[in-house]
This record gives sequence, structure tokens and C-alpha cells, in this order.
Amino acid sequence: MHLNIFVSQSCFLHCKGCYSFSREEEKGQKIPTNILIDFLQFVYDEGVRKITLCGGDPLTRCDIIALLEKMKEIGFCISMDTVGSAIIKDVAIGKHLIVKQVNAEKIAKLVDMIGIPIDGSTNEIFKRFRQTRADLINEQLAICQELNKYGANICINTVAHKGNLENAYELAKLVKSLVVSEWQIFQYEPLGKFGLMNKDIFEITDKQFSDFQSTVLEVFDNDISKLQFKASHNRKNAYMLIDNSGNAWIPSSENMSTSKFSYILNDNVIIGNITNIDDWHKICSYLDRKFI
Ligand code: SF4
Repeated sequence: MHLNIFVSQSCFLHCKGCYSFSREEEKGQKIPTNILIDFLQFVYDEGVRKITLCGGDPLTRCDIIALLEKMKEIGFCISMDTVGSAIIKDVAIGKHLIVKQVNAEKIAKLVDMIGIPIDGSTNEIFKRFRQTRADLINEQLAICQELNKYGANICINTVAHKGNLENAYELAKLVKSLVVSEWQIFQYEPLGKFGLMNKDIFEITDKQFSDFQSTVLEVFDNDISKLQFKASHNRKNAYMLIDNSGNAWIPSSENMSTSKFSYILNDNVIIGNITNIDDWHKICSYLDRKFI
């Protein structure tokens, strides 16, 4: 099981189909860096080598560079899922928070795989799922270009949903033209409050996902070296989340409550909390390990 850690609740976007559970947490929660690092040193010593940072958006965490540096010192292979907006400029989030531009060179050096979302070849299609920024598509392309300057490994992350199915061909052509290491395409899943609330707008069938996949393969001349197709049924129990409150748990759509549009997070679901050192062994026992 892969470990995904929320390191922030804030995000540069307010996606209609946001699948992140971090947005359901009590506002202002954040695991202190010292606790996170002590826990991460423990899991590394236990043989865990790969971690994904997510949120919200990790780049909205004010000490993200320091956190990444410490994780790299420990020896982790780090993936980070980010909209990436702060790679090219200062960004205002709401009325009170300005996220200062981050050093793209440092991010490229510290993060082994930077996941950047692109869900459509035009702003109109892109914004059917991801919302807020005016010229999203050109921002995302500028972020990729900036990261390319420093030799970053970029993984484009795409959610295949009802609103971009007909765009598969144009989107595939766009991604093919980019300098990126991977393209992951996820079948939409009704996870998180907004993901569940807007399920009817976005959910697609296995057949529709398979058709999306066929179109992409056609554009890529069946070269699958950079492509990863993540169908919903393959992602079941594939990863553990540590949320901004320190709770470790395994997401599943079965535990989503349709009446409240939220996840039922109780003692039956929570494996442990990383602020409690006694829980570390149990949490770690679920994770993929690789001694190298
Ligand atoms: S889906 Fe991702 S990018 Fe969109 S609001 Fe949620 S966390 Fe942010």
C-alpha cells in the first residue's frame, strides 16, 4: 500500500469534483513538521521508500521546501501532486493568503516526480472539473515549461470524467507534445465531499474509460512507455492517507455517506494517528516496503 500524506488544506483551485478529503477537515489543521519528520524517519527505517505529498496543495504549505529537504536527507523518493501555480508566480488564495512563488529549481531537484493536473485541451473543457484560475491551460503549460528548464520529472495527471470524454483525442495530442516523464489517467471516482456531491456530473462507466484509453493509445501509437491508466477497480485499497489531523486511513467509496456527502471517519476506519508514537508500527504494517 502506498503512503499519501496531506501537508496542506489550502489549494490554488476549487474544483467542482474535488476528491480530496483534506477539504472536509476542520479548517487550520496541519501536522507540525517535526512530528511529520520523526514519523517519516521511522517509516523509512522500517523500509518504506516512496511517499506522495498531496493536500490541498503542498505548495501552499509555507515550509514546503524545508520539509522536502528533510525528507530528501532521510532518503525518500518523493512524488508531489500540485496544481503548480506558485511555480510561476505569487498566488492569492481567497482574501487573506498569498502564496509566494517557490524556487522552481529547488522543487525540480528535491521532488522525484511532480504531478501536474491537465484535464482538457482548452480552458472551457479544463474548467468543467477544475475551477478558479482564469487561464488555467496556459498556466499549466507555463508551469511545465518552467520545470523543464531544471530537468524536473513531470507526471501529467488527468481525471477522465463525463465532461472531457469527447476531448480525449485533442488532450492526448497536447500531452504528447509536452516534455514529460509520465501521463497518468484516472477514471473519475466519487471520493471526497465534492466528488460525491457532483458524482452525477462526472462519473463515467468502465466502458467509457476504456474508450478514452483506446483514443489515447491511438494518438500515442500504442507506445505505453509513458502512460498509466488507473481504472477505479484497480485503485481499491491501493493507498493509505495521512490527513492534516494525523489520522491514517484507507479511502474507499463504500465509506462515503451519500446523505451527508462526506466520509465516515471513525474508530473502525482510522488505523492510527501519527501524533501517537504507539500507532506507528500498526500504520507502517500496511505499507509497501523495499529495502535497498
Ligand atoms: S481536486 Fe485537487 S486541485 Fe482541485 S481543489 Fe481539490 S485538491 Fe485542489
